[in-house]
Amino acid sequence: MTTIAFIGLGNMGIGMATNLAKADYDVRAFDLSEAAIANAVKAGCKAAKDVKDAVSEADVVVTMLPAGKHVRTVYTSEEGVFSYAKKGTLFIDSSTIDVPTARDIIAKAEAKGFAMIDAPVSGGVGGAAAGSLTFMCGGEKSAYDQAKPILDHMGKNVFHAGEAGNGQVAKVCNNMLLGIHMIGTCEAFNLAEKLGLDAQTFYDISSTASGQNWSMTSYCPAPGPVPSAPSNKDYAPGFAAGMMLKDLRLAQEAASTARVATPLGAQSEALYALMEAAGKDDLDFSGVMKLIKGSL
Ligand code: NAD
Repeated sequence: MTTIAFIGLGNMGIGMATNLAKADYDVRAFDLSEAAIANAVKAGCKAAKDVKDAVSEADVVVTMLPAGKHVRTVYTSEEGVFSYAKKGTLFIDSSTIDVPTARDIIAKAEAKGFAMIDAPVSGGVGGAAAGSLTFMCGGEKSAYDQAKPILDHMGKNVFHAGEAGNGQVAKVCNNMLLGIHMIGTCEAFNLAEKLGLDAQTFYDISSTASGQNWSMTSYCPAPGPVPSAPSNKDYAPGFAAGMMLKDLRLAQEAASTARVATPLGAQSEALYALMEAAGKDDLDFSGVMKLIKGSL
């Protein structure tokens, strides 16, 4: 039986670890939060008391942590994964983190003889629970091939994006585009309404015309046209504006390091930062509609 150490059992990790336990893996669960570990035990995982306890018998380590600094601590600190994993263990980091940290930790893992991929996800908490995430993976093809059967239990679409860190590149570029077209969609619906065109009529026209995009047809930020969208629940998340801001900041950091102009990405970051400053970053990211309307 394959033993998997799962570290980071928050909103996303708990659904992912649950799906691995359901697939009959022996899952050793560790988190700094006792409550998070208790949830994982209810879902069929075994509690680990620290990183050492989680990883020392593991064949695979999966991490789902908030940001780069947490991933660095969990893998490289004295009490971290590198110190206790047995030879041949595969590491999969599914956290969304900055590209340089992802590349650096994978290089350090490889220098110690471990295989490792970055494998950030899209699909949110619902996708994590349903096992329908999209995984964007970077790293050696042999490591990806080893990880793929495990990722298949947590996701529906699993891609190899190339070298180490390229999963994070795909993730931040995708989410920068999402932020941009969400804001553009809000502007268009707001202008239509102010000019006397109701949301449903504009939706019917634009969703079959060249303005059509995912933010409009799957997640419409104007209440009405897409019944399942957070706009119909006063923008309860969904995917919180604060999470979008995190990803837009990562995109801007990457753009700045690479000296690439991303003027609309920069504007998107600024608008979501205004939501944060107004204390509204817990709204769904389509709640940027309120900012555009001047009613935040
Ligand atoms: P979360 O804050 O709910 O969970 C993170 C967990 O990591 C927490 O339970 C925390 O206690 C644990 N943790 C932190 N430091 C630790 C350490 N040193 N050792 C062990 N555990 C530690 O976050 P989340 O929403 O589950 O997101 C996790 C990652 O997935 C983030 O990188 C996020 O950007 C990404 N992501 C989130 C979503 C989403 O919709 N929530 C969607 C896609 C990607």
